[in-house]
Amino acid sequence: MIEPVGPGVGRIALRTPTLPPATHTNTWILGHDALTVVDPASPWPDEQARLIAALRARARDGVRVERLFLTHHHDDHVGGVVALADALAEDGPRPVIAAHRITAERVPFTVDVEVAPGPCDWGGITWHALFTPGHAPGHLVLHDRASGQMIAGDMVAGVGTILIDPADGDLGQYLASLELMRRAGPTALMPAHGPVLTNADALLSMYIAHRHARTEQVRAALDRAGAADPAEIAAIVYPELPPAGQRIAAIQVRSILAYLRGHGLAHPVGGGQWAADA
Ligand SMILES: [Zn+2]
Repeated sequence: MIEPVGPGVGRIALRTPTLPPATHTNTWILGHDALTVVDPASPWPDEQARLIAALRARARDGVRVERLFLTHHHDDHVGGVVALADALAEDGPRPVIAAHRITAERVPFTVDVEVAPGPCDWGGITWHALFTPGHAPGHLVLHDRASGQMIAGDMVAGVGTILIDPADGDLGQYLASLELMRRAGPTALMPAHGPVLTNADALLSMYIAHRHARTEQVRAALDRAGAADPAEIAAIVYPELPPAGQRIAAIQVRSILAYLRGHGLAHPVGGGQWAADA
């Protein structure tokens, strides 16, 4: 069942191979008669079948899916794209697949429409696409200025935390993208994982402040330790986490170290270790 959550926005949460403690990815259903399906994410046939059945139930009222939109390329966001497009093509015109160019370069299927930042008139609603790299290089969020709703992808989370993996993330870009979102003035954030988040301005400000605080903690840990590797720093900065959490925290720490290096505040000293700049 598609749960209505706001004007022209519905949700169905599908079980996905995502980062614990999250277990599901929200698929957002946008529009009234001509739908945009955001992040059909599950690679698992039983979960895909739930989404297809929910959309086919809507189709009986003359509603059709025009496009599938991807916030970014990560596996827990795109695992059901081809299955959904194939299933809908059995009933009528195949929906187009839309994403940022950088996302299109990173997914194992063809993206039909490249979405650039700016207004998108989809299904009677004007969504403003904001380019928000940092968690993923091609990340887009969608903002409906009329209702204040923002489809936030993996920029914020209702459950768990946002991982900035230096393999394809960038902490400096992430902070700038959060600020871009905050300045757009949304009232409700629809994250990929967990419930809708209200009080958007305060939440985005808190996210930015939290990342700056973590960055300062890493710098202070380097100052005290003299030299340390990311796992050692994670143990100092995130002492409350169990071993699996510590391993993910060490990835986060590597992003913070790259950010500190970019600001002339830390540098690698060999053997995987880092030191604070004088
Ligand atoms: Zn992601």
